[in-house]
Amino acid sequence: MAISLDDPRKFRTLRDQAHQVAMNMLRPISRTYDRAEHTYPHELDLLAAMIDGLSESGASSGAGASGVRRDEPAADSERDATESRNGTNLASVMSIAEMCWGDVALLLSLPRQGLGNSAIASVGTPEQQQRFGRLWASMAITEPDTGSDTARIRTTAVLDGDEYVLNGEKIYVTSGERSDAVVVWATLDPSLGRAAIKSFVVPKGTPGMTVERLEHKLGIRASDTAAIRFDECRVPAENLLGSADIDTSQGFAGAMATFDNTRPLVAAMAVGCAKAALDLTRELLADAGVDVDHDRPAVVQSAAAATFLRMEADWEAARLLMLQAAWMADNHRANALEASMAKAKAGRMASDVTLSCVELCGSVGYSENQLLEKWARDSKILDIFEGTQQIQLLIVARRVLGLTSAQLR
Ligand SMILES: Cc1cc2nc3c(=O)[nH]c(=O)nc-3n(C[C@H](O)[C@H](O)[C@H](O)COP(=O)(O)OP(=O)(O)OC[C@H]3O[C@@H](n4cnc5c(N)ncnc54)[C@H](O)[C@@H]3O)c2cc1C
Repeated sequence: MAISLDDPRKFRTLRDQAHQVAMNMLRPISRTYDRAEHTYPHELDLLAAMIDGLSESGASSGAGASGVRRDEPAADSERDATESRNGTNLASVMSIAEMCWGDVALLLSLPRQGLGNSAIASVGTPEQQQRFGRLWASMAITEPDTGSDTARIRTTAVLDGDEYVLNGEKIYVTSGERSDAVVVWATLDPSLGRAAIKSFVVPKGTPGMTVERLEHKLGIRASDTAAIRFDECRVPAENLLGSADIDTSQGFAGAMATFDNTRPLVAAMAVGCAKAALDLTRELLADAGVDVDHDRPAVVQSAAAATFLRMEADWEAARLLMLQAAWMADNHRANALEASMAKAKAGRMASDVTLSCVELCGSVGYSENQLLEKWARDSKILDIFEGTQQIQLLIVARRVLGLTSAQLR
């Protein structure tokens, strides 16, 4: 069977449109909002309205709010490959990569395209998707004492009549101040471990929810990152996403399904950001008289050209893993392993490539006259949030070796 490594034809228009938006709407304001940390980029309102319009017309899936659901029937692995389809998930990663060629932080700041929206799409019931579908939802998992080890979440949710009462503190919530609602991970019973962790939609303005502060950061400065406190915060019982049953045999499966969806999206952000650095570096190298020749072996070219070719190959490997994870989701194949592989590869690649581009371009790369130094700062987070590099490798190892999280930690 021949494998085509080109982008699917049916999404090329979408890809090209996203690239135009990135070039003409995001790039021009990229440096401005990097410097004006915590200032809302109001130019994004128009863009968000356009994406809403496209989504409503069915012409686009938006920038990533669709869900990969673990409860949908898995496809027969023997299924004829000719039945394969390219759908919403593939369209999302392709358009997100293009938008992040423009600016990762601005993409993360797009109204109604938050990681919480992916959680609602992945775990929510059809009724919940209808009810919360138009909200801009951020996602709050991390706590002062809990980062990678999400099973140790201490925020509690106690049922009181027909409401849950939330208590706890969440930190580093992307879009935590600007979003309309926060999807909060909390435990129904700390003694029951991971299976008792559920996610709850908490609309902004709910009494007991307070945005405490915004963080100053290395990169993605246009994106607001908030610390939020929940103090006797009451939400209707029907705001618990999915099922309230605590099935200890299932462990974390419910809440974790969100990551099958969001990790390929973060991989796409990394692919887009690294591509921006590669494109500019190639131009700067050409200006300096270094031509990169794809038709000759790297070893017979200059060290700069050889380094560039190695980076391009690394980028391509990450891009293919990203496409695979999204394609599997479109075809209802369980993709947890591939989502982690794509996130691990793309996160590390983007850090390496953007920093190597700074290095290759020397003082020009380091200067604020170009965006290379900014992309090196922006890319680092893509190897940290939604599961760090080390955690992705741990997940991949567990799945490949057939070990549980208790057996390999
Ligand atoms: C800008 C920004 C935005 C963020 N946005 C969000 C958000 O929207 N929602 C949210 O919930 N969180 C968010 N986060 C938090 C992010 O997801 C966490 O920082 C991340 O999960 C890591 O947790 P930690 O920082 O507590 O590090 P730790 O978990 O304390 O890890 C520290 C180091 O140890 C390594 N490590 C940990 N465990 C192991 C292990 N078992 N084996 C090997 N190495 C290990 C890690 O890889 C890491 O290198 C954001 C963070 C930042 C900086």
